[in-house]
Amino acid sequence: MLSIKNLHASVEDKEILKGIDLEVKAGEVHAIMGPNGAGKSTLSSIIAGNENYEVTEGEIILDGEDISELAPEERAHKGIFLSFQYPVEIPGVSVTNFIKTAINEGRKAKGMEEMPANEMLKKIREKSELLEMDKKFLSRSLNEGFSGGEKKRNEIFQMAMLEPKVAILDETDSGLDIDALRIVANGVNKLKSPENAVVVITHYQRLLDYIVPDFVHVLMDGKIVKSGTKELALELEEKGYDWIKAEIQ
Ligand code: ADP
Ligand code: MG
Ligand code: MG
Repeated sequence: MLSIKNLHASVEDKEILKGIDLEVKAGEVHAIMGPNGAGKSTLSSIIAGNENYEVTEGEIILDGEDISELAPEERAHKGIFLSFQYPVEIPGVSVTNFIKTAINEGRKAKGMEEMPANEMLKKIREKSELLEMDKKFLSRSLNEGFSGGEKKRNEIFQMAMLEPKVAILDETDSGLDIDALRIVANGVNKLKSPENAVVVITHYQRLLDYIVPDFVHVLMDGKIVKSGTKELALELEEKGYDWIKAEIQ
């Protein structure tokens, strides 16, 4: 589904990603872990099409198509979702109106008509119930005064509504409280299917107590230096990253 080959990327002539290879198949959950500054967020931004980074080598292939030259919106329309890509506050635009617009823009890009209002409402109802969301939340202004947990809930709701092929959840380095972790994990677990894939980027093993990954990759200094199964995450929790550093030298 998503295939990354020999990806190198720089910002201001500083090489940050130094040859990343990653194969993500439909139905799989991958976790990418690694110390602060390793390049995890850079990798997720680049997959989503952030234009601040220059891809100097390599390919990003989604369902057989190289998407590495496409604009972020085009990638989104093709089924790439990155959490926290749009954390801006939009006063006057509700959570539901924002997602309605996003869905209809995606349909327009594919030459489809707008989603009929009743179908949209049904979908909003289904997904918000699945994620146990409060109705009042849906009419709040986007991100305005949202707590950390509410931001996460909104992201997961967006993901549920957009039904991406590949969802990338960059949990960033800022502390997610336990409620936010549960919201993300429950959402991901409910939305997982044989047709989609999830890439969870985290440096907290505790998220992986809730979202059990099929594969765990360790990103260090711009490279994936080790891959394994969920046991690898536990080993990292216990021993940190230094032993891997020693192993690869
Ligand atoms: P991680 O998410 O693993 O903590 P990042 O991808 O955020 O790591 O950062 C990797 C490295 O790239 C860091 O050294 C960071 O300072 C640098 N970096 C990332 N984005 C930029 C940017 N826009 N401008 C300059 N340096 C950047
Ligand atoms: Mg960081
Ligand atoms: Mg990061």
